[in-house]
Amino acid sequence: MLLTQEQDELLKLKNRRFCLQRKIVEAGGEDAAKQVFEKFYAEKALERLKKRVVYFVPKVGVTPLSVEVKEIGYRWATRTSNGRLSFHWKCMMASPKVIDGIVVHELCHLRYRDHTDAFWNEVDKVLPDYAERKAWLRENGAAPDI
Ligand SMILES: [Zn+2]
Repeated sequence: MLLTQEQDELLKLKNRRFCLQRKIVEAGGEDAAKQVFEKFYAEKALERLKKRVVYFVPKVGVTPLSVEVKEIGYRWATRTSNGRLSFHWKCMMASPKVIDGIVVHELCHLRYRDHTDAFWNEVDKVLPDYAERKAWLRENGAAPDI
């Protein structure tokens, strides 16, 4: 990571390297820097996750009420019974393939609340190689729900 005074954005990726405005660290230390990173990831994550949700909605046959990205503790994603999906900003650390696994898992939960055979059949139908993605999520600290 590079600390710089020469950019308007608080944080940006340049040549695959993070450039953070120096004054953030000078004024707020590590906590301030962490917040900027979280916000950066949350924005990118929302953009990407919304696209993947739109892509999978017709395949699963459900439409969520809303899609959000936030800090949701140790889980990768969660949902309310009325169809609001929330994803952890850390999803951005996963590969696109794994992100699709998370999205499909949550969409299938809008049809089947519990991990019943019907639920897993639906997941399998949309992503036949879901098990591979699930293994990655387990190794990288997903909650048992995934
Ligand atoms: Zn689940």
